[in-house]
Amino acid sequence: MKIKVANIKKAKNLLDKSNCIAIPTETVYGLAGNAYSNRACKKIFELKKRPKNNPLIVHYYNISQLKADCILNKDFFKLYYKFCPGPITFVLKLKKNSKISKIVNNNKKDLAVRFPKHPVARKLLKYLNYPLAAPSANLSKKVSAVKSEDVKDDFGKKIKFILEGGTSSIGLESTIIDLRKRPKILRLGGLEISKIKDVLNKKILYENNPRKISAPGQFKLHYSPDLPIKLNVKKVKNYEAYILIKKVRRIKPNYFFLSKNGNLKEAAKNLYSTFRKIKKSQYKFISVERIPNKGLGKTINDRLKRASKF
Ligand code: AMP
Ligand code: MG
Repeated sequence: MKIKVANIKKAKNLLDKSNCIAIPTETVYGLAGNAYSNRACKKIFELKKRPKNNPLIVHYYNISQLKADCILNKDFFKLYYKFCPGPITFVLKLKKNSKISKIVNNNKKDLAVRFPKHPVARKLLKYLNYPLAAPSANLSKKVSAVKSEDVKDDFGKKIKFILEGGTSSIGLESTIIDLRKRPKILRLGGLEISKIKDVLNKKILYENNPRKISAPGQFKLHYSPDLPIKLNVKKVKNYEAYILIKKVRRIKPNYFFLSKNGNLKEAAKNLYSTFRKIKKSQYKFISVERIPNKGLGKTINDRLKRASKF
């Protein structure tokens, strides 16, 4: 993809003045602001209508940028060199002299950090002299945006600028791993746990108990397309939208395929745009075929389950 330097410059000018803009990443689009600026971070929460206690992920260009703000450890180095830039977010301890705005993490002593792989996001981050706080560019609790039109649908003119970057190649949020003590997955995402496990070579905890939530991405109702969703459905009526994992021979107008041949990566990429398409097509109800619970299918099922708590 050809990157327009004029757009990167425009983005920098707005961000330097503590404005929020939308930026493309390989997971989903982000609503970005200078992570060192209280004013910018406050705007992010206001625009998204996000509760103050739901901290933001901060995006860095590379490890040397991050060293100013966080305490790094062995597990982090292993995962960083294997998967970054890429769809993994680390929760680390903040350094005492870090310049991160206290609004980012509600005054806590830890920070979620990520290194996006999208070439436009990287070009921008390299050009700035501060990291970017950027939650997903959608209204709180709703489906994430995977292209610039989605951001426009949610925010209209409230966002000053959307940096164009095409459709997000992964289409699901990052996997969040807490590395402050024993590695613990806080949110399933675009990088499979099995791949993380292969690198760390030790037991990884996965906290999925809604009563002990440490990442609000684990809240029960999240990623909602605002329609009732029923899961593991085999038969549907013509007036229900039916999401299928792969193409079938007898296609009906209410059928929506996540992938041509059941490829889970392709299915993940298409999930949120399928939700948005269905919502725009006036269906009042979504049924979903059973999705294989392996690899990225686990993340898809996690999102479907949360979206179905309507
Ligand atoms: P979003 O950017 O909308 O995908 O949401 C970011 C997710 O990261 C939310 O679920 C947050 O709760 C989680 N998160 C951000 N910072 C932290 C942190 N310091 N500890 C635990 N989870 C975090
Ligand atoms: Mg989000």
